[in-house]
Amino acid sequence: MSTLDFVVGIVYLVAAIAFVTGLHLMRSPATARRGSPLSAGGMVLAVAATLAKVANDGTISGTGWAVLGAGALLGAAVGLVSARRVKMTAIPQLVSLFNAVGGGAAAVVALMDVIRLTEHAGATVAGRTSVASVLDVLIGALTFSGSLIAAGKLQGWIPGRPIVLPGARAVNGLLALAAVGLGCYFMSGAYDSWWLVGSLFGALVLGITTVLPIGGADMPVVISLLNACTGIAVAMAGFVIDSAGLIIAGALVGASGGILTKLMADAMNRSIPAILAGGFGTGDTVNAVAPGVTGDVHPISVEDAAIQLAYAGKVMIVPGYGLAAAQAQHEARELAELLESRGIQVDFAIHPVAGRMPGHMNVLLAEANVPYTQLKEMDTANPEFPSTDVVLVVGANDVTNPAARRPGTPLSGMPILEVDRAQRVIVIKRSMGHGYAGIDNELYTEEKTGMLFADAKRGLAELAASVKALVGA
Ligand code: NDP
Repeated sequence: MSTLDFVVGIVYLVAAIAFVTGLHLMRSPATARRGSPLSAGGMVLAVAATLAKVANDGTISGTGWAVLGAGALLGAAVGLVSARRVKMTAIPQLVSLFNAVGGGAAAVVALMDVIRLTEHAGATVAGRTSVASVLDVLIGALTFSGSLIAAGKLQGWIPGRPIVLPGARAVNGLLALAAVGLGCYFMSGAYDSWWLVGSLFGALVLGITTVLPIGGADMPVVISLLNACTGIAVAMAGFVIDSAGLIIAGALVGASGGILTKLMADAMNRSIPAILAGGFGTGDTVNAVAPGVTGDVHPISVEDAAIQLAYAGKVMIVPGYGLAAAQAQHEARELAELLESRGIQVDFAIHPVAGRMPGHMNVLLAEANVPYTQLKEMDTANPEFPSTDVVLVVGANDVTNPAARRPGTPLSGMPILEVDRAQRVIVIKRSMGHGYAGIDNELYTEEKTGMLFADAKRGLAELAASVKALVGA
């Protein structure tokens, strides 16, 4: 082993330690901000070590370096600008796009490697490389197209509801058979890259047809799963080109994405195979139509809501996607502080899939400096609702919908925040509009529920002003 190889190995090791430590720090909101730059620093080290090794090996021509430099600059510029400019509410789409490019790039690495190896007659692909190449192409291509569809759904360019084409399951089964079959044929000794190209196209179409029928409340599981797939594809690319850095980084993403997928599926009481096979976690509700809400809605004024809050003993705030859309996290924290200054106990109840990405509400509220000790996970919050005087639901809909307790709706089986068990409920939202799952919410017509129709930011600010006026603060 040359000295450079030894140094590169050590740098990969340091990078791996940075990745693992960074991930560990991201477990808690208090340390997460340190985890991100540490992991990014590890990646910079790994890239620098790889470039040094490639330069030393002399395997890249002058044109190759130019293409590499241009690609890296372009990619870095696009990544930097999009990450800086993206609105908080659009981060899930951006994450899906990053998953897509990660999976797509990994698939291209394997394909190009195979083309390179087989372009000379008589050249063969080693058995170990061929297995990794096929897995890389299959998983990477599926992740690429599936993540693009997921991003389109989250952005609203593709309807969020399940799109189920006739015979979809049979078509998916055939596509999976074709993609895997072509890959196996390639591996069995027919090292012609066209078989792999066929496998790639099969996986691309399969990614589209698998994610299109998934909608309703099941998208968080799919997004986490696609994230895990990106990691696995990248690790496979590492085996293909013999890069320890890629293998380590990919394995970490794959493992953490896998754990997140399991957590999301458990939190929503969903089975991952049923989601992928049937479009809905409950497996039997693909064509279910949610019953419409009957009964009267009770609109309330800001002043009425302020009286309920100002004279409560215990208040639980339930944030949802609308809070993120309105960027109302600071107003929520200010109102909470105001109520606490009157001796009222205030907590935030967080549903695992509230918002549009895992941890969305935790990130938002951390940004507004809400102490994380004030955030109650669903399992802790639910037993507390019966003893809560007022629940203030801010831009949350699906995660509070009692329809989830009945079979036959797109939300069926998903555990909800049981806000309807509290004494009084105030809901701030702009209209009777649906949430992501596209169904009516029976909570809104309950006797105990007052609807405060307003934008979340404006509504919360007006509520705080009204509470102040009421108590002379
Ligand atoms: P929902 O999407 O169910 O509802 C959000 C509500 O916010 C809407 O009904 C809307 O009503 C209201 N709203 C929108 N803008 C504003 C605003 N400016 N001010 C006040 N209200 C506003 O959100 P939830 O958080 O309850 O549920 C999340 C849903 O998203 C779940 O179905 C989940 O499965 C899904 N999902 C979650 C992902 C995740 O990883 N967390 C990823 C993908 C999907 P109105 O228009 O009347 O104001």
